[in-house]
Amino acid sequence: MKLTIISKQLPFSLQLALFLTLSIGTGQAQETKKRLPIIDVHVHAMKANPNFTSEMCPWFLKDMPGSGPNQEPPSFMNTDCVAPLKAAKTDAEMQEAILRANKELNITMVVSGDAGVIHKWHSAAPDKIIPSLGISNSNQMTVEAFRDSLSNGFYKVMGEVAPQYQGMSPSDMSLDEYFGVAEELGIPVGIHMGTGGNGMANITSPKYRASLGQPFLLEDMLARHPKLKIWVMHAGYPMADQMIALMGANAYVYVDLAGFIWSYPLEEIHAYLKRLVQAGFAKRILYGTDLMIWPGLLETSIGVIQNANYLSEEQKRDILFNNAVRFFNLDASKFE
Ligand SMILES: [Zn+2]
Repeated sequence: MKLTIISKQLPFSLQLALFLTLSIGTGQAQETKKRLPIIDVHVHAMKANPNFTSEMCPWFLKDMPGSGPNQEPPSFMNTDCVAPLKAAKTDAEMQEAILRANKELNITMVVSGDAGVIHKWHSAAPDKIIPSLGISNSNQMTVEAFRDSLSNGFYKVMGEVAPQYQGMSPSDMSLDEYFGVAEELGIPVGIHMGTGGNGMANITSPKYRASLGQPFLLEDMLARHPKLKIWVMHAGYPMADQMIALMGANAYVYVDLAGFIWSYPLEEIHAYLKRLVQAGFAKRILYGTDLMIWPGLLETSIGVIQNANYLSEEQKRDILFNNAVRFFNLDASKFE
């Protein structure tokens, strides 16, 4: 409106110039219009491994194989679908895919895993990669080394902490001092609680115990560290009752949807997510993928949230972005 009034007072040639500028400007604005920002709180950086390049069908656990102890172990995933997702086969291919997702899908990522890979991704996209330092066992690093690593400022998050794979409860005293350091430095912590896929104890992790994924096992540790900010990775799936009770009792506990969002049967994922939202926790759910080597599952997983007809638009934005901004104390204006 204001522009019309101004232009009436301008000579025709200037009006034309203004019109052209505005038209081109609008066209450009539309072309480069950024997608709304998304924060993926659960990304793994790993070096390419020639033995781990299989394609993957999302929601592959919809039909768990009925194998036995004297047969081939159950395959971790299957490729029997119309369009399996391709794995990145080299470090360069993966990094390119990550940078493309940072830019084109406007995704910021909390990344744990191989330190060399994290440093490379971070130097290529410092605003979009939030480095996270994982420790699951006190043999990995002394408490002093852990404190030094967190104090130097590169790592902003502690995770993925996965004592369940080591046959340990998250309240095991051997990890207590590490949580104490995170509490003292105000570093948020992501802890693996819940499922790891079909046959985890048979295939790769004989110490893995389903019972050690019970959200209630966090309570003693949380009581010892009242200022610690944690999120439960994989949302304690499938133990919704314990998860809801724990979040009710501990008002600062959040969850992420990583892993099960693209592996378990779609109806089951929606039932679990709906249950958490129905219980009143839509402000404490973080979007996460558990991204490893299949870049396509970023879009697959975003689609699950976008298509959830029981979520309001506001709840979708909370899960995809706003809740993580609040949880990690980020500055929302930096994402505009
Ligand atoms: Zn995990």
